[in-house]
Parts: sequence; C-alpha cells; structure tokens
Amino acid sequence: AADTPVLTLNGVGKDYGGVHAVHDVDLELRAGEILGVIGPNGAGKTTLVNMISGHVAPTSGDGHVLGRKLGAAGGAHRVARAGVSRTFQHSKLFDRLSVLENTLVGTHLVSKPTFVRRLLWLPSARRDENRAVSQARRQVQRVGLADREHVPAAQLSYGDQRRLEIARALASHPSLLILDEPAAGMNRVEAAELSELIRSLAADGVTIMLIEHNVHMVLDTCTRVVVLNFGEVIASGPPQVVASDPQVIEAYLGSD
Ligand code: ATP
Repeated sequence: AADTPVLTLNGVGKDYGGVHAVHDVDLELRAGEILGVIGPNGAGKTTLVNMISGHVAPTSGDGHVLGRKLGAAGGAHRVARAGVSRTFQHSKLFDRLSVLENTLVGTHLVSKPTFVRRLLWLPSARRDENRAVSQARRQVQRVGLADREHVPAAQLSYGDQRRLEIARALASHPSLLILDEPAAGMNRVEAAELSELIRSLAADGVTIMLIEHNVHMVLDTCTRVVVLNFGEVIASGPPQVVASDPQVIEAYLGSD
C-alpha cells in the first residue's frame, strides 16, 4: 500500500561483545521524508545504517525495509535489489574511471570496472548496455556533473567526488537513499548546494536518510531528525523541535 512505511524498526539493537553500538531503536520512515540522523562520534549512526542496508545483522529487535526483514538471508545485495542504495563514509570511487564510468557501476547492469570501460568503447553495445549508459548519464546530470562526465574521479574536487557517489547511488533508481556523511569535508557553499540537491531528490519521490556531523545542514535539509547518543535515540521530531530540546543541546549541540 502507498502508506506502508519504507522503514520500520522495533527495538533494534547491535552488540559488539559487551558494547551496545545501537540499543533499542524504534523508527518509522515514510515515503518522501528526509530523515536526518545526528549524534556525536561513536553514537551508533554507522552501525544503524549498516543494519538497514543489510551489511550488519541486528542482535536484538526486528524491522523491515521496503518489505524485507532486517537481517534476512542474502544481506546487502538483496537489500540493494529491493531498492535501498547508500553511500559510504569513506569514498569507494574508482579513481581512474571517469565520472560516467563510476556511475555506470551503480546501475547494477554492469559490475566490474574493466567491463564498464569495455562497454563504453564497444561500437555495437547491446541494448541493455545502452540503457545503462543513458541511465547513468541522467544521474550524472542530476547531480550537476554533466560537463565533467569524462573526467577521472581522482581529478574532481572533494565536493564533486561526494556528488559523484550520490550519482552512482542513484543509478539503480532506489526508493530509499542513505547518505553517510555526504557533507564531510565540504565548504559552506558546497554543503548548501548538496542540501538543495537532497531536497530536489526527495521532491522527485526518493526517500532519504541523511547521516551527518554537519548539524546545521541537517536542520536545514531534513523533514525530521533523530538524535543518537551512546547508541540510543535521545530525541526525534521536526528539526526546530529537536534543535531546541535541552537534552540534545546538552549532549550534542552544546559541544558543537
Ligand atoms: P562516527 O560518527 O565516528 O562514524 P558512529 O555514530 O557512526 O560514529 P558507530 O561507528 O556506529 O558510530 O559506532 C558505535 C559504537 O560501536 C562505537 O563505540 C564503536 O567503537 C562500536 N563499533 C562499531 N563497529 C564495531 C565493530 N565492528 N566491532 C566492535 N565495535 C564496533
């Protein structure tokens, strides 16, 4: 149904030995929302995302993402096929491949960088491959890198590399896009442009989860914000409400 949540978490937790990386998290995410997840270093943001994207299985609680049970067999590949796409905190671009080639890797129609190279140069590429190229090109345009589609990833500015990661994540046409610290290392102008891009993607119907250290950007961009501290949700709600929560100010914003 149209109003089925994109994501539901019920008491989800992850222990590493004795460490509660994430503890008893309840969360619901609806189509078209831009959910911000903030919290100090080690608060459990990455662990939470890893559970949603199928990279890590929860040790307690349960949840569903796009109809798939969290921690179900098949892991991250199956979750990706169900329509969840993500970027990573540390860049996973192929330095020597071009903007377009890196984006092609995200279409899931091609997987190996060597193969990507070959198909771009193939005079009689098959129909699927042509479709992959035009699909990738559309995402490159969408993030504003059309004029650099043949530039190797390594030659892009830091901010543009992060945009390229988003283009690649979009290439599989995800229903849920998870961005893990996309504004890290960006200057204010780049972060403002990124915020605008994220809002335009949401307006196009992509549900977004934004994990960020840049609190001001999160408050500017998101429709709802969740604050994690020591693995637990200490506040959640609209940005203005969260920003004025005394517990949040004490735990997080105060020390920012
Ligand atoms: P950051 O903003 O620094 O990326 P974070 O909010 O994403 O932090 P996590 O990386 O999820 O936090 O870590 C939460 C806690 O779980 C930390 O105490 C961390 O040391 C611990 N942790 C995370 N991954 C593992 C692991 N694979 N093995 C053991 N402990 C881990």
